[in-house]
Amino acid sequence: MTRDEIRSYLEFYRDLGFESIYEHASAAPAAASAPAAPVVIAPLPVVALPGLAPDGDMLATIRVDIGDCRRCRLCESRHSIVFGSGNERSPLVFVGEGPGADEDEQGLPFVGRAGQLLTQMIEGTATKEGIPIRRSDVYICNVVKCRPPENRTPLPDEMEICGQFLFRQLMAIQPKAICALGATAMKALLNTKEGITKSRGKWHKWRDIPLMVTYHPSYLLRQYNQTARREAWEDLKALLHFVYD
Ligand code: URA
Repeated sequence: MTRDEIRSYLEFYRDLGFESIYEHASAAPAAASAPAAPVVIAPLPVVALPGLAPDGDMLATIRVDIGDCRRCRLCESRHSIVFGSGNERSPLVFVGEGPGADEDEQGLPFVGRAGQLLTQMIEGTATKEGIPIRRSDVYICNVVKCRPPENRTPLPDEMEICGQFLFRQLMAIQPKAICALGATAMKALLNTKEGITKSRGKWHKWRDIPLMVTYHPSYLLRQYNQTARREAWEDLKALLHFVYD
């Protein structure tokens, strides 16, 4: 990678809220003279993508257009393309980062531990607030449709390519509101430099559609952080009342 490419990757991750980076310790000490193996990320070929959603675009058409996608390197290790699930006419769409191992295996978004927490968050908040919805009443999808190896954060070019399909999904559904789960979804939809802690709990807009940012359920699972959990519940409460009252 060139210095400029490295700088742009570091800026990207800084924008996502990462404040430190760590070098992996090698399993065995390298011989003093052995040069470190360079990390090679193959550049992607230029692919033609529609800039705007075609008129009358539908989820089924978008899925057909994705096909057996080989537009980016994520296709190499994926098992399935995880397009999205739920009510295609939902007034509310949740957008996550990308499939994990369970999602890749089942071809469905948010079915692993983070997914179970998301279900609890949606259904628990709805029940408590007297809003008669279940998880199956909303639509759930991700920025990238293929699992990144080792569950790493999707790279900017992967997000850009797959993001076009996310945008088409959102344009086709035209929900009353969108919920961006975590920094990657926020970055893909708002292109902001702000960190998640500042942006969460506030209303933003994605092409005129109100958008709420909240913490990703995986973050809430990892960090035993009562404050973050409480904040995420508050965000969902505001979101559900906005959409369903
Ligand atoms: N995390 C995500 O961002 N999406 C999923 O589908 C599962 C876990």
